[in-house]
Amino acid sequence: MASAVEQFFTVKAKIAAAEREAGRQAGAVTLVAVSKTFSANDISPVIEAGQRVFGENRVQEAQAKWPALKQAFPDIELHLIGPLQSNKAKEAVALFDVIETVDREKIAAELAKEIARQGRLPKLYVQVNTGSEPQKAGIEPREAVPFVTRCRDVHGLAIEGLMCIPPADENPGPHFALLEKLGLEAGVEKLSMGMSGDYETAIAFGATSVRVGSAIFGSR
Ligand SMILES: *Cc1c(COP(=O)(O)O)cnc(C)c1O
Repeated sequence: MASAVEQFFTVKAKIAAAEREAGRQAGAVTLVAVSKTFSANDISPVIEAGQRVFGENRVQEAQAKWPALKQAFPDIELHLIGPLQSNKAKEAVALFDVIETVDREKIAAELAKEIARQGRLPKLYVQVNTGSEPQKAGIEPREAVPFVTRCRDVHGLAIEGLMCIPPADENPGPHFALLEKLGLEAGVEKLSMGMSGDYETAIAFGATSVRVGSAIFGSR
């Protein structure tokens, strides 16, 4: 089986090819390496190979492994890509550099409070439930643009991007297209979309970052 480092270089090459194919600029797409469930020992070789942007979906799990890694590699950029409970806003603001899963008023209010209190300002994305799946986090598509506006006007939070996770059993293209349209309407620059199975498609639809886990680290 190929090592995580070998698979990391393969994914980097495929991203570069997909950028070219889509007529995008080289380096237009950031790889977020999703390291959830993998240990610091699994992650370190990929850092050594040059990767600096990582994604975790649980605050507590990230707290257990990332502070030491961030100390060793201060230019690491850590993204929260899983649902955020409002009672974890404090820990999330302290640890993460990008929080991709802002999806309701209460979270926006808690984040605003913690950002003011800690003087630390992670970049923020709004998660959109493009498939309106009842079990999935994210704001409804029709509420996304007004919510981005309220984050700014009511909570003083600058939203830099949108994020989505299309339904597992559907063609992701229309979901990526919807996120791009909402991003334009909301006036945000970043689009976090595409995972191991569909990141090349997401790049064709304008993703500025892709979140790739199993294609690098193996199955969980
Ligand atoms: C786990 C996860 C990923 C990575 O999924 P893979 O299919 O392993 O690439 C991407 N985004 C989110 C939100 C995740 O939770």
